[in-house]
Amino acid sequence: MMKIAIASGKGGTGKTFVATNIFYSLCKNNRSAMLVDCDAEAPNAIAFFDVNLVNSDDVSQRVPVISSNACTYCGKCHDWCNYNAIFILPPVKVIQVIEDLCHGCGACVVACQYDAITEKLVSLGKVNSYLLNGVVSLIEARMNIGVMSPVSVIKAALKKADTMADFIILDSPPGTSCPFIQTALAADFVILVTEPTPFSFSDLKQSVETLKKINKPFGVIVNKAGLGNADIYFYLEKEKIQLLHEILFDIEIAELYSTGKIVAETKQYLEIEFYNMIKKIMRQYGNSDNQR
Ligand code: SF4
Ligand code: SF4
Repeated sequence: MMKIAIASGKGGTGKTFVATNIFYSLCKNNRSAMLVDCDAEAPNAIAFFDVNLVNSDDVSQRVPVISSNACTYCGKCHDWCNYNAIFILPPVKVIQVIEDLCHGCGACVVACQYDAITEKLVSLGKVNSYLLNGVVSLIEARMNIGVMSPVSVIKAALKKADTMADFIILDSPPGTSCPFIQTALAADFVILVTEPTPFSFSDLKQSVETLKKINKPFGVIVNKAGLGNADIYFYLEKEKIQLLHEILFDIEIAELYSTGKIVAETKQYLEIEFYNMIKKIMRQYGNSDNQR
């Protein structure tokens, strides 16, 4: 089994287009594959497939509740909280949990010697499982609106995806912060999708630096090739980064994608190119069985 994350330094470069079309190409070539949409703030991979929801698991977190009757305002819970999630003003007997900052670590509960803290469950989001052609093939991390970090929901989705499928394709959250890192760490290989424009180039460099730091093998797909300039190509050559594939700019691709179509279904050359690309990645980096 091989887990491949599809990522990009910023949204709108074609990350989900690549992830959904690779998944389609694998299925079309009779390889068992699963697609996990880890873009929990705005998941949209299921829109491209005719799927049925079969399961929806709530992802929640324990958050402290402080009793003002039992609290002595000693401040120990505040001192033990690494996330500044407890606000306390002892002289005026004010103590409050800032739920958005709380990571549910439980340290404050252990710290309190006056049994003033209990816990409640707060919902962070859901992990949805979808059937495609009779098999659970799509998993979706979807965080609730207003939740500060999608990381817990992404972790739950990644856990749910551990199956016997030959390939697990992870549609990563954009950017280079914790949600991206969490997804990349779970993968055996990362495909970075970029465009030959100055904005994308700058984001690509940040993604590359992050992946180097976590020591994760990766390669690059240039989407909308033919637009912009050649800076990205010079950079890839200089840094000895593998250019996995180029998708030529084609207005028809943009039109098909914007109407929720799997482009490789119409443009079969893409199905063949993506499948061959994955086979090549598998030969070079496969079978590492990353269990994260
Ligand atoms: S540790 Fe307990 S008693 Fe002390 S301030 Fe926190 S809740 Fe109140
Ligand atoms: S559970 Fe952890 S993060 Fe949340 S308030 Fe308590 S110590 Fe802070």
